[in-house]
Amino acid sequence: MSQETSTAGPSRTAFTGLDLGFDLGEATPTPAARPRIRSVGVIGAGTMGSGIAALAASAGLPVVLLDIPAEGPDRGAIPRGAVQKLLKGKPAAFMDADRAALVRTGNTEDDLALLKDCDLVIEAIIEQPGPKQALYEKLEAILKPTAIVSSNTSGIPMQVLTQGRSERFRKHFLGTHFFAPPRYMHLLELIPTPDTDPAVLDSVRAFGETLLGKGVVVSKDAPGFIANRLGVYGMNRTIARMEEFGLTIDEVDGLTGALLGRPKSATFRTGDLSGIDVLVHVTKGLAQATGERFPLPAWFEQMVAEKRLGDKTQGGFYKKVGKDIQTWDFRANQYVPQQRLETPELKAAIKAPLPQRIAGLKTLPGKYGDFLRATLLDNARYALTASPSLAFDIPSVDRAMEWGYGHEAGPFRVMDMLGLDFLRAEFEKRGEEVPELLRKAQGSFYRQGAQGEEVLGFDGTYRPVAPIAGNLRLSSVAAQPGKVLAQNEGARLLDLGDGVALLEFRSKSNSLGSKVLDLLATSLERVERDGMAGLVIGNDDPKFFSAGADLAESTGAVIAGMWDLIDKSIHRFQQATQSIRYAPFPVVVAPAGMALGGGAEFTLHADAVQAHAELYMGLVEAGVGLLPGGGGTKELLFRFTKELEPYEEADPFEAVKRAFRIIATAQTSTSALEARRIGFLRAHDRISMNRDRLIADAKARVLDLAPGYVAPTPRTIRALGKEGMGNLSYALFSFHEAGQASAHDVAIGHEIAYVLCGGDGPPRMVTEQDILDLERESFLKLLGNEKTQERITYTLKTGKPLRN
Ligand code: NAD
Repeated sequence: MSQETSTAGPSRTAFTGLDLGFDLGEATPTPAARPRIRSVGVIGAGTMGSGIAALAASAGLPVVLLDIPAEGPDRGAIPRGAVQKLLKGKPAAFMDADRAALVRTGNTEDDLALLKDCDLVIEAIIEQPGPKQALYEKLEAILKPTAIVSSNTSGIPMQVLTQGRSERFRKHFLGTHFFAPPRYMHLLELIPTPDTDPAVLDSVRAFGETLLGKGVVVSKDAPGFIANRLGVYGMNRTIARMEEFGLTIDEVDGLTGALLGRPKSATFRTGDLSGIDVLVHVTKGLAQATGERFPLPAWFEQMVAEKRLGDKTQGGFYKKVGKDIQTWDFRANQYVPQQRLETPELKAAIKAPLPQRIAGLKTLPGKYGDFLRATLLDNARYALTASPSLAFDIPSVDRAMEWGYGHEAGPFRVMDMLGLDFLRAEFEKRGEEVPELLRKAQGSFYRQGAQGEEVLGFDGTYRPVAPIAGNLRLSSVAAQPGKVLAQNEGARLLDLGDGVALLEFRSKSNSLGSKVLDLLATSLERVERDGMAGLVIGNDDPKFFSAGADLAESTGAVIAGMWDLIDKSIHRFQQATQSIRYAPFPVVVAPAGMALGGGAEFTLHADAVQAHAELYMGLVEAGVGLLPGGGGTKELLFRFTKELEPYEEADPFEAVKRAFRIIATAQTSTSALEARRIGFLRAHDRISMNRDRLIADAKARVLDLAPGYVAPTPRTIRALGKEGMGNLSYALFSFHEAGQASAHDVAIGHEIAYVLCGGDGPPRMVTEQDILDLERESFLKLLGNEKTQERITYTLKTGKPLRN
């Protein structure tokens, strides 16, 4: 992916305000001076090392992965076995299984020399200083002089690790703290020492952000760094407060998840995922390293002693019994049926935007309110007092918790939502001293300044928030005067600057209904009218680029029997996707997360796609008893047929078969690399590893394509007609006979085949419009089918597919 990814380095301003003990302002090297990292070594092929190796290989980099020699003749068995295990594991560690070929494995006794050309060697071996120090001594003897060495240690001070090493080694050394699993967790904490060369930090930062796609936070060399220090403390206090207020595990998870803008796994479900033994181990380690008290209740230790460790032992705070879930009752020492905390008030509260939700907790009555205020205050106090020793600035603390623990807002942003006067009053009410940082703050930690957002520094002065490198945050763009060019309830058009506009969907799950189509039309007109360079279609949604066409809209029309209206609306959707393709300026679609159904059709019609590496794209209409009717079927047919044209001997039926398989099985990619392999992305479509950079990369792509841009010319192909239909009908018949397809699956498959073959007449030349007309005809036919309507109703209700 390296060759297709934007590799612009982080902006110098990203370091503004950090006090690293050296002058970054003057010493920040120009990009030319920054050592380039393009080959990686990883030592230790356990949970972390193998995951880091898979991520680097997914980015397209050659990786050497070493572990200790295994006993017996196959001395490289440990890392090789680790790669094999990753290839079978879920969620997948490699973004494409083929990338595993980039990982060369070996053992640390016979194969250390494989590392000699690596630009960066990441150590992820056992968490003990002795073996790590011994390894570095060996590495120093064989690595090239410019090689960077980093440790993934969770808590051993960097100064201890580099004891006995040369000055050159220490200059090229730092901590790189990844989170498990490395592909999916956004945070990467970098821990430079006073000896680390600023150019080395700069280089690893650019590598982490751009090639590995991580959100980088620079941390001080303090126990637990930022995220785990605050995370472990938070967990610890939540448990203590649970006991104090007489709550159950179910109640605490109901209160400390979505309500606080945290993952649904809240406190205890997260504990089961990490492993209760790991929690106990990390907590004890932190207590020892900091001298602070992190007391865990006795029943915690007992759970570990009795091997109730969480998911890895099929039982921890929760246990699955058949279809039911049981929860550990720590007072009665037994599992009891789960009693989720689901009150109408809570459900309503969760729907409100986070700032409103958090502010509402100030007056929430009863023991739940008391518990939440007490834990929020605990977290606030700790963040206020510990942060200056953990981080260089407040945004780093917030980002660490947002990226490492999935909190929607970090502790300082939450404090702003609660209001600082409220916090001061609460501390005083409880007879506690108001922490110094809170005394220094005026009004709030973050505030809007003349030049954009400002934040309180630890020294008590306000300064601009260092931007996330390469990030173009749409909410910030929209907040600037004059930047919203047009909007309605479904979408808005923003001015990204430099002549580039962006169409942002804003409907539920970003579904594509008539309002979105209205704004697409407005956007295309506006870009043309104002002579802008081009358009990006993208958004900041963490989950959905788009869940697809708005099915609810068409269901109403079906019930009312308004077939003419439905025909018109499908026609309109087709014209919309065609208008993306044939606009006289470049339209770049930037999907991230789920791009399903109509969302995939929008993507397929882009002049160029700039996709996030985590792209889950699929033409999933068959799942609801339909076929892609917004140009998706047409696009795959034309694309695959055209790809075969240069090969005189190639059988055009191969293209039809390929499109048929993808559409009939509703094949969905598990990454952008896989989307490329399936055929959803073309060779010229690009991938951004870092979600934060996606919109800026898409904008750059528009500017790259704009000079001299000419719209594509309309295509014609030879449709196979009844010849192709015969073959596909036979395949469908066989699937049905083998019990792999229901009668309705066959009916859907028949319509897909009909469109892909250009009907069941003799072979003929067809235009795109010919195939679009067939798409519409078959779509309407299926929509009129009762079984399809059953599927749609079921999916709208449950969010799941129905096989009937
Ligand atoms: P692990 O036990 O899963 O794997 C460690 C691997 O290192 C094993 O395969 C082991 O054979 C190998 N090893 C041990 N000594 C070695 C040596 N001298 N030379 C070469 N290989 C050796 O451990 P892990 O969870 O992957 O953790 C690795 C490092 O990452 C530790 O420092 C840990 O603190 C840190 N870390 C772990 C996590 C996590 O969630 N597991 C998160 C962040 C950081």
